[in-house]
Amino acid sequence: TTPQNAAEDGFVHVRGAREHNLKNVSLDIPRGQLVVFTGVSGSGKSSLAFGTLYAEAQRRYLESVSPYARRLFHQMPVPEVDTIEGLPPAVALQQQRGTPTARSSVGSVSTLSNSLRMLYSRAGDYPAGQELLYAESFSPNTPQGACPRCSGMGRVFEVTEQSMVPDDSLTIRERAIAAWPPAWHGQNLRDVLVTLGYDVDTPWRDLPKKDRDWILYTEESPSVPVYGGLTPAETRAALKRKDTPSYQGTFTGVRRYVMQTFANTESASMKKRVARYMVSTACPECEGKRLRRESLSVTFAGMDIAELSRLPLARLAELLAPYTHATSKVEKGLHAEQLIVRRRIADDLSARIEVLLALGLGYLALDRSTPSLSPGELQRLRLATQVRSSLFGVVYVLDEPSAGLHPADAEALLDALAQLKAAGNSLFVVEHALDVIRQADWIVDVGPLAGERGGQVLYSGVPDGLRDVEASQTRRYLFGEAALAPRTPREPTGWLKLEGVRRNNLQDLAVAFPLGVLTSVTGVSGSGKSSLVSQVLVELVGAALGQGSAVAEEQSDEPDLERDEALPLEGRIVAGMESVRRLVRVDQKPIGRTPRSNLATYTGLFDQVRKLFAATPDAKKRRFDAGRFSFNVAKGRCEHCAGEGFVMVELLFLPSVYAPCPTCDGARYNAQTLEVTYRGKNIAEVLGMTVGEAITFFKDEALVERSLEVLNEVGLDYLRLGQPATELSGGEAQRIKLASELQRATRGNALYVLDEPTTGLHPVDADRLMVQLNRLVDAGNTVIVVEHTMRVVAGSDWVIDVGPGAGDLGGNIVVAGPPQDVARNKKSRTAQYLKPHLV
Ligand code: ADP
Ligand code: ADP
Ligand code: ZN
Ligand code: ZN
Repeated sequence: TTPQNAAEDGFVHVRGAREHNLKNVSLDIPRGQLVVFTGVSGSGKSSLAFGTLYAEAQRRYLESVSPYARRLFHQMPVPEVDTIEGLPPAVALQQQRGTPTARSSVGSVSTLSNSLRMLYSRAGDYPAGQELLYAESFSPNTPQGACPRCSGMGRVFEVTEQSMVPDDSLTIRERAIAAWPPAWHGQNLRDVLVTLGYDVDTPWRDLPKKDRDWILYTEESPSVPVYGGLTPAETRAALKRKDTPSYQGTFTGVRRYVMQTFANTESASMKKRVARYMVSTACPECEGKRLRRESLSVTFAGMDIAELSRLPLARLAELLAPYTHATSKVEKGLHAEQLIVRRRIADDLSARIEVLLALGLGYLALDRSTPSLSPGELQRLRLATQVRSSLFGVVYVLDEPSAGLHPADAEALLDALAQLKAAGNSLFVVEHALDVIRQADWIVDVGPLAGERGGQVLYSGVPDGLRDVEASQTRRYLFGEAALAPRTPREPTGWLKLEGVRRNNLQDLAVAFPLGVLTSVTGVSGSGKSSLVSQVLVELVGAALGQGSAVAEEQSDEPDLERDEALPLEGRIVAGMESVRRLVRVDQKPIGRTPRSNLATYTGLFDQVRKLFAATPDAKKRRFDAGRFSFNVAKGRCEHCAGEGFVMVELLFLPSVYAPCPTCDGARYNAQTLEVTYRGKNIAEVLGMTVGEAITFFKDEALVERSLEVLNEVGLDYLRLGQPATELSGGEAQRIKLASELQRATRGNALYVLDEPTTGLHPVDADRLMVQLNRLVDAGNTVIVVEHTMRVVAGSDWVIDVGPGAGDLGGNIVVAGPPQDVARNKKSRTAQYLKPHLV
């Protein structure tokens, strides 16, 4: 067919797609329909939907823009595919990998804040005599709007005695002043204090306040002789004798050191280090509202714009209703023009908020920062924005839109997708939730397995036809053959009881988590599950164990200032703590943000592999130790890319991209290192193996094999050992963390907390994960998951249903008990979805 004909037959024709693991696949996909891509994790769904279809649409669009733009984009990957015909322009609504760093909010992503600013500018109530302000004056990100004291941040960063001297029982010599620079520079400052006559051998808290204040806050910088290595008494004597000093040392007050280093250093790690000694508090000038006084003096419905932006969207909608066209009445003292403007903006805002409410996001406020949203919430927010933006003839490519959604919320999502379709668009959706798959007009099932053993299109057609496709894993779940076996829930061995819990929408809640069993916490999006489990429970148990925040590995290099002050921890553990020895939180945060961390390094597997290489006769002859085989050490790595295998390419106007290193071709090592082989493979080739391949290769090495087996068991056999952390999805990162935990000897009495562990997992992978979680429970541990997949909930021992609704309408325990009991509860919104999964 010619492209002309192809466009006319209503299908997208893909021929010879070979991106990643795709095996030269050809298929036709209908336009104007809801097309769902299914298949086990790693089978190639994303490679087809995003890597091929979306990438090609994007590339064509950019080519059509201008030769200039094209030049900037010449590094845009060209998907491995022979031809695609009939492809409309595409918009991707992908779940972002990693955390967004931009200072954006619900209001900015949805563009609702723009309209709200217009409303305040044109139709707000101004104090008598104040001139009208432009819309920009209501944005903290413009010079016209930003509070001059905090530059629109809403917070000011300061130091306190407590933040600079966290442990005041220490002496200065014992490094009481933790905020001081490390190593030599810190010692130098201490020696200067000795010369100046300050006591460095008395606990900080026993020093006179005058001395403490001077040391911390002085703006003076006296320069004095320093005698290195002398005691305070010897120093005094040396000063008296006017001995020649080791050098002249200059003092800097601790506060000054911290503030200046933070403001001026170019080193990210220095900045991060000093940031630890600062605290942020609400700006005293704007009270955290981020705007100038004049801007805050303008009100609407009696509130300034910051107050309005803090309301849940559901309340904002109620508040706007009286001002919309349908209900608004002419008021005294209001110009006709003001009235028209007010109605028009209120109408527009109300209509757009309506879509967000329909998608179950009514509990969000406009000023909620996007980094605090779950990826699923962010994706729905973007989706809602699209629903209102009357585009037509576009294909929307979505990545697991049901992630984070209770089945009740998923129904609203399907409505929104239906609206986009009705407006003449196509929907290509990668999805695992059976409720969503069942609504598809067309299914593309990829498989049969992951990685090398996947990459084929097993089926492309209307849903019912999948019934007969033997090789499909999806088929068994979709057509009811893989029903759960009946089981008797395990009996709890004890109870972990919490009382007086307050956080977000939780108000003085009491809750009991059973120990020694698998518990699912359910409830609609925004009901309070994360506040209860991932926040308060984790914080309380962590504090009781002295584990601090207890959140596994934070590997970021960036100072964490965007993070708000820690919320006060309200609640207490009243029973059960004696049976909890360890807290393990397995979240979906990335395991690292550079290609330097990968599967093998994170799990510790790589240490074993390097030892094997160092033990080969060839390595011994060359005197190569295990360090030689590390790409993090100068000895053996390629120096051009410093062992990253990639070099960063800076693009004008765009985020930089990584390209393979031209010297080592991505191998990461120098030539001599690569000459050493273990059973015929060099170290780079081993890193290039998938977990599955490595299991065969390392069959005789018990330690290595054990780590690999665990990765295999959590369904990650398709990942390469050297796969950079930056290429992993949140779900993959979570399973890698789980695998690392599983390979430790299980001593029992640990509490495992997982937030939606089945995100990104095909039902067959979710079943495997359940096997692992059950194994942890059988070994004497407690597992608590926040979960939406009813198959998993049905297979748990205990269910705690939070709700009944979202935000103010939630925050209570609706019912707690074995799955059977919850399924019978009339008030629970989970019951009706759970029931069909119980036999
Ligand atoms: P799915 O979406 O079905 O989970 P993917 O399309 O993401 O699967 O992955 C299919 C295969 O391609 C997997 O073996 C995966 O490891 C590999 N793959 C994915 N992304 C990349 C990449 N950026 N570079 C190399 N291989 C990749
Ligand atoms: P769930 O996990 O059930 O989806 P959450 O515990 O995330 O629910 O949210 C419960 C309520 O608390 C919601 O109204 C939500 O908007 C609010 N909330 C959650 N996190 C924050 C936060 N960081 N700032 C303000 N409100 C929040
Ligand atoms: Zn301010
Ligand atoms: Zn290199």
